[in-house]
Amino acid sequence: MNLSTPIEEIPRVGPIYQKRLKKLGIKTIRDLLFHFPHRYEDFSNLVPISEVEEEKTVCIQGKITGIKNIRIFKRRMTITEAQVFDNSGGIRVTWFNQPYLINTFKKGDFVFLAGKMVSKKGRKYLSSPAYEKIPAEFVESLGNGKKYDSVHTGRIIPIYPETEGMSSRWLRFIIKPLLTKIKNEIPETLPNEVLKKQELLPIKEAIWQIHFPNTLEKAELSKERFVFEELFDLALAILREKIKLAKEKAIVIPINLEVIKKFIQKLPFKLTLDQKKSAWQILKDLEKVRPMNRLLDGDVGSGKTVVATIAALNTAKAGFQVAFMAPTEILAKQHFKTLNGLLKGFKVKIGLITGKENFFDSRKIKRKEMIDKTKNGGIDILIGTHALVQEKVEFKKLGLVIIDEQHRFGIEQRAKLCRKQEFLPHLLSMSATPIPRTLALTIYGDLDLSLIKEMPKGRKKIITKIIPPEKRQEAYDFIRSEVQSGRQVFVICPRIEPDEPGEEAIASSLPFAQLRLARVADVKAVKQEYEKLKKEIFPDLNVGMLHGKMKTEEKEKALINFRGRKTDILVSTSVIEVGIDFPNATIMMIEGTDKFGLAQLHQFRGRVGRGKDQSYCFLFSEFQYNPRLKAMVASQDGFELAEKDLKLRGPGDLTGQRQWGFPDFVMASLKDITLVEKTREAAKEILQIDPELKKYPLLKKRIEEFNRKIHLE
Ligand code: ADP
Ligand code: MG
Repeated sequence: MNLSTPIEEIPRVGPIYQKRLKKLGIKTIRDLLFHFPHRYEDFSNLVPISEVEEEKTVCIQGKITGIKNIRIFKRRMTITEAQVFDNSGGIRVTWFNQPYLINTFKKGDFVFLAGKMVSKKGRKYLSSPAYEKIPAEFVESLGNGKKYDSVHTGRIIPIYPETEGMSSRWLRFIIKPLLTKIKNEIPETLPNEVLKKQELLPIKEAIWQIHFPNTLEKAELSKERFVFEELFDLALAILREKIKLAKEKAIVIPINLEVIKKFIQKLPFKLTLDQKKSAWQILKDLEKVRPMNRLLDGDVGSGKTVVATIAALNTAKAGFQVAFMAPTEILAKQHFKTLNGLLKGFKVKIGLITGKENFFDSRKIKRKEMIDKTKNGGIDILIGTHALVQEKVEFKKLGLVIIDEQHRFGIEQRAKLCRKQEFLPHLLSMSATPIPRTLALTIYGDLDLSLIKEMPKGRKKIITKIIPPEKRQEAYDFIRSEVQSGRQVFVICPRIEPDEPGEEAIASSLPFAQLRLARVADVKAVKQEYEKLKKEIFPDLNVGMLHGKMKTEEKEKALINFRGRKTDILVSTSVIEVGIDFPNATIMMIEGTDKFGLAQLHQFRGRVGRGKDQSYCFLFSEFQYNPRLKAMVASQDGFELAEKDLKLRGPGDLTGQRQWGFPDFVMASLKDITLVEKTREAAKEILQIDPELKKYPLLKKRIEEFNRKIHLE
């Protein structure tokens, strides 16, 4: 048995639990051991029964002298009551609604119990304590208590994130013997030099101590080690890419000032200063012999497309091709339309390639024709979805790759696009997720960054309101009146079906599995909400639905219907997040706001306010106080909100971690610039000694995996 052994081979993990584990993305022993607790309960305070004080968490050990179930029919509950004695005295113990416990314990059993003693109506009892039977062979050690190595009591015990069907008790029961069994099979993944210099716990100790710590300090030290490692890997991955890239040659694309000026003059609006600056930075990069690797980052609606179009135009006019990739078909089509409009009269040949259709010059063409045209240079700018990076698509001379709305660096896509080329094309990625400065320096490391912070003039502020439950009807009435005057509405819900994890919860593939979203039963689900709005609230209006599990054609149809105003209200999951333009939609109504991160909420809001009409964002909240919602009302500046988001996130916060693809645990530590600097220094040192990581095959493997994960969605 080793780390890569599949969970099916773990003793005592049956088919039902295998399924539950897999749902969390846990497939191997490694995944399971890296499913970390999110907090601890200190049950190490072992006291004689006579010294148990009220309201203090303690652990006792003693003998059960009696146990019975008491049914209270009126309240439909069962109380299990037991008496437990040790040499110093006795205590009453009760559990609620766990009648089966009567079969777990027998009179005469020795047990560990941990919890609090409470006093109600003059009766004192240990209330629903954690329990653990002491096996017969250890009973003689009672009194010194040391010999039996307890799992659930008598120590600091790990509490794992709540997940339906998988209790912390069960996880402890599985993980503890597993750790004992394979502790010698866990290889060190950090270089020795780094461990020593940074005074980090070796992996064997850290993995043990993060699950079953001797002290809370040890637990903290273990966590530090794993956070350090994650950031170290990230730094290493980024640095290696940079070194690799610096050796590559790119095509030099000179700036064609005349064409650019003409383009800017023809625009129906004036570029903002940030747009001009960004465009200039990009054009300057294109002139270099080194491949550009730049991220254009600006809030939703800040006008990134026109900046990208300038770069594309300049490239096309210099005789090179451009590949412009969008994450969805709808978005690709939107860009095709936009670019055709903006570049009218410039004699640039623009194509659109998607999984289904291909357009050239406003007519549909065959896929084969598109591929041929691209190959022989008959296309200047090819816009498309993932269809762009398919094996068959080959460019004659690709000069620039633009990747829209992707948080990742896009290096992988560039590599695929130019596999048959001599030179590496320049790469421009665009993101509408504003990056706080601290993060820009860390996650994106040495990537060049162009920021558009300033919004185009004349944009109306979106009126943002927190709607408490009692104001729901009022909000619905307002929605009806808006729809009646011709406007449209988005409704966002965090889940597809009431009982299934949301799209956010799809497990992040990074090791910190502990942060995967727990299931929450009461969140609004799209299907349910759709039915309710359609049948009960707005039977007179047209309601549509959109979620990630629908077929592509269905999704497309839902959007076409909405665009064509056949539907007034579109109920959707977060799939709507990505840059679609619906100027006629003026209300963004978000259900279950407590399940979304601040940055994500801000993204949703950016779906409205694109036309000339006043727009609104309604945030439905069950809770009185939610700092994220307050921040949403107070600010419409994405960068400001992103900074705030970073500050608000605690390690225990489970929302929105998919925003960056990094778990909150690591996200939280990214605030710590000193730590980040340290990891970058450590990574540099290792690369100086051993640029190919020959001495560290394990680390190399991990970095390569890491690279794949951060580049691919
Ligand atoms: P995003 O940055 O979200 O991709 P877009 O590029 O889609 O934003 O731009 C949003 C809208 O703003 C488009 O309709 C675009 O024509 C318009 N726009 C872009 N730049 C300006 C500007 N400087 N002044 C006014 N409108 C602009
Ligand atoms: Mg965009």
